Amino acid sequence: MIEKPILAIIVPCYNEEEVVNATYSALSDVLKPLIESGKIATNSYICFVDDGSKDTTWEIITKLSKENNLTKGLKLSRNFGHQAAIIAGLTKSEADIFITIDADLQDDVNTIYQMVDKYLEGFEIVYGVRNDRSSDGFFKRHISEFYYKLSTYLGVNGIYNHADFRLMSKKVVDILKNLQECNIYLRGLIPSLGFKSCSVYFSRKKRVAGTAKYNFFSSSALAIDGITSFSTTPLRLITILGFICFCIAVLMSIFSIISYIYLKNVQGWASLFISVYFLGGIQLLSVGIIGEYIGKIYKETKQRPKFLVEERIE
Ligand code: UDP
Ligand code: MG
Repeated sequence: MIEKPILAIIVPCYNEEEVVNATYSALSDVLKPLIESGKIATNSYICFVDDGSKDTTWEIITKLSKENNLTKGLKLSRNFGHQAAIIAGLTKSEADIFITIDADLQDDVNTIYQMVDKYLEGFEIVYGVRNDRSSDGFFKRHISEFYYKLSTYLGVNGIYNHADFRLMSKKVVDILKNLQECNIYLRGLIPSLGFKSCSVYFSRKKRVAGTAKYNFFSSSALAIDGITSFSTTPLRLITILGFICFCIAVLMSIFSIISYIYLKNVQGWASLFISVYFLGGIQLLSVGIIGEYIGKIYKETKQRPKFLVEERIE
């Protein structure tokens, strides 16, 4: 165990001009007592990652970095997305402990005290888990629950009600830094690494200001990524589906031969009609699922960088 570990808090920000100042004060109010109590090193800091914001977020980050020595900034060359912004922050920061947290203060910053205590007890990964979903609407709550169950069934190691608020030791982050893959879904990846880990619980609040950057489509894209980055079970399901269709086709053939011999009439308009659409639908869906995986292979073979840094303020 390091005597006094350096803590880096990584905050991805995309068009967050309305909250960055509040986020800074909330985080510094936690960081300062931690430094004073001697639990972490005096050169611990907050690193704001500007994920290609189109508003004044970067100007605010620059100003904060000049005014105090707790803040650092990293500006990406364009919008790379939430996961990439977190990975950029983790990759470019030097520290012994890393905590990632969203800029909107929905996650309770006071949980950081417990996270650091758990680290000092010897845990390498500490997950921030929300203990209720009352801040979400009915629809989002049920969809997330269904998604969690589905992805667990498909073999993704998720942690229920955990998003991207977590503590990781340097050991874990070093492994992340060295991963070559570019389709990274942290919520599934980190639990699959192993290591001594635990959860701390908090109640998730509403956004302090600004609007959620995820809409239905981007959340769905993240959800599909989550499953296809970890599990090939959907491909297996296609095979099973194909087998079931084959069995149905055999039964239908027997039925049509018998009806041809004994009824001698043209029957089966409805069954023909339904099977054409049914099979067409299944085939398109299956091609789509296979396409998701081919798309991933395509992205991986190009080996493009996960993010590009435009500017850095230490
Ligand atoms: N974010 C980002 N890049 C993006 C979208 C979002 O860095 O392309 C950041 C955003 O600024 C916030 C965090 O990711 O700090 C989570 O976004 P948001 O609060 O909109 O998501 P939700 O709470 O709805 O999951
Ligand atoms: Mg949020």
